[in-house]
Amino acid sequence: MSDSIHWFVVSCASEKEAQRRAEQMLGWLVERGVVAAQACPSTGLYPPGAAAQGYDSGIEFCGVKLVRERTVFHAGDSGLDGLVCPQCRETAAAEDIAWDDAVGSWFAGQDDVTLSCPACERASSLHDWQFLPMPWAFGNLGLGFCNWWLDEALIQALLKELGVGVCQVHEHL
Ligand SMILES: [Zn+2]
Repeated sequence: MSDSIHWFVVSCASEKEAQRRAEQMLGWLVERGVVAAQACPSTGLYPPGAAAQGYDSGIEFCGVKLVRERTVFHAGDSGLDGLVCPQCRETAAAEDIAWDDAVGSWFAGQDDVTLSCPACERASSLHDWQFLPMPWAFGNLGLGFCNWWLDEALIQALLKELGVGVCQVHEHL
């Protein structure tokens, strides 16, 4: 059976800041009974807490995965078909644009990476391009809800708590 992860991704100014925000968000989730305070030693996930909803207790790989380092949050086996230019809204096929070089440069530590559009020839920040068929995100803080179908109220509360610049990614493994 395949797994899915619903990611909430933020780009913090530094890895130290990402660590701090991760601890803060974990505290927020524990306080609300969404997750337990201790990660499961076998999966590394924080299991659903007493007030959690929307998960299947029969699935072992279930809980919150906390990422605190520079990570490319991709859509997993949904793959990559193309990218939408944030300026002209044209879709470039994945093979017609140097997305992999841009992603590699970002991962290597270059924060201001841009990607040039084959249609309008304008360069835009990698963060502003829309990946198809499913969005990707680039950040150093990630909260991943593994095999967990969140209700809308919790999604909205998380978005509010994480603040501006949060991206959601649905990874399918
Ligand atoms: Zn364009």
